[in-house]
Amino acid sequence: MEYRAYNIKSFKKIPQIQKYVSPKDIEDIEIAALVFPFKVNNYVVDKLIDWENYRDDPIFRLVFPHKDMLLPEHYERLKKLKEKGDEAELKKAIYEIRMSLNPHPADQKSNIPEIDGKKLEGSQHKYKETILFFPKQGQTCHAYCSFCFRWPQFTGMNELKFAMKEVDLLIEYIKAHPTITDLIFTGGDPLIMSTKLLRSYVEPILKADIPHLKNIRFGTKTLGFWPYRFTEDSDAEDLLRLFEEIVESGYHLAFMAHFNHPKELQTDEVKEAVKRILKTGAIIRTQAPILKHINDSAEVWARMWKEQVAMNMIPYYMFIARDTGAQHYFGVPLVRAWKIFKEAISQVSGLARTVRGPSMSASPGKVAISGVTEIEGKKVIALTMLQAKNPELVDIPFFAEYDEEAQWITDLKPAFAKKFIFD
Ligand SMILES: *Cc1c(COP(=O)(O)O)cnc(C)c1O
Repeated sequence: MEYRAYNIKSFKKIPQIQKYVSPKDIEDIEIAALVFPFKVNNYVVDKLIDWENYRDDPIFRLVFPHKDMLLPEHYERLKKLKEKGDEAELKKAIYEIRMSLNPHPADQKSNIPEIDGKKLEGSQHKYKETILFFPKQGQTCHAYCSFCFRWPQFTGMNELKFAMKEVDLLIEYIKAHPTITDLIFTGGDPLIMSTKLLRSYVEPILKADIPHLKNIRFGTKTLGFWPYRFTEDSDAEDLLRLFEEIVESGYHLAFMAHFNHPKELQTDEVKEAVKRILKTGAIIRTQAPILKHINDSAEVWARMWKEQVAMNMIPYYMFIARDTGAQHYFGVPLVRAWKIFKEAISQVSGLARTVRGPSMSASPGKVAISGVTEIEGKKVIALTMLQAKNPELVDIPFFAEYDEEAQWITDLKPAFAKKFIFD
């Protein structure tokens, strides 16, 4: 299949846009895309979206920016400036609106590792076992998710970009840190890279043969957005060979596959891609945030986890949408997210109960909502840390005042204590 990408300038050429989408909706996409990144491809358009019902289609919502992702005053301001054709004023407004949307959530910039006084700008080392690596050419995706918390890096706000060219520095750093067992390639999407390029990152790591490094992971949305990467792209076979080489070198190779909705699991293309990846000896674990307008129902999550297990994938994390970008549009309050999680997990067998969450990737670590309960007549939210900068805090229950509106850890107040365990 030939890869055809559409951006905000070219999307009106998509036949389904011309046939189904109203002029008002097209204009609103253009206005929302002034602030949020937009890119879609022919697989998503032709195979995943139900165009007859595009307004409520979860995949349409997943990739096409929506008017309501902007606050009403931002929408009005942009619409007026666009109509006036005042480029300079429009540019200024776009920048100001973006900066008001918390473009650096959860102080990611403070986890940048250093070796011999040199900063590894394209890495993050937050938890002692795992290091994230952002290869320079992997900092884009086959299509963009409208809710993505890394949205600023796709908008040309280049100073916000994480990216690294040098794999040698990374190897030195891992060698010097024996607690690191896991190297996670992320982005963007590292599997946007050609096999040749990906190989140029992976081979030196295999060659370095670092005894404490056990697990190599790829954080990727490619199974959902471009499964041909593993089936009929010209270097698909070589990619599968690379996975085999990683496995044969003695590593656990894990795909951290991002699926937002069971619709993404239904095509013949994705089913074939999953089979081929598993044949190499790699494991596929699945993760996604819970989002209004896309997947905020127990039925959807239960269906998704069941289908993933049937395809031999392992449900891993349910996340809470981060406090950035259009959180007001996509965000599900913590209590409601937990109710959906609980109702979904009660419907699946133990094989799908490997999933954890709903979890917030916050500054102190991954904080999961364990449930709502009553202690001595007081209604509270029980929390635990699944990951913590301070590993001693993992798995200790702690409590917050009950709050049905809270959408992030910073909205919560500690119960039975003056502060949270991580404060
Ligand atoms: C989630 C996450 C990881 C991986 O954590 P696991 O629980 O091992 O999957 C690593 N680094 C950061 C910054 C993370 O948010």
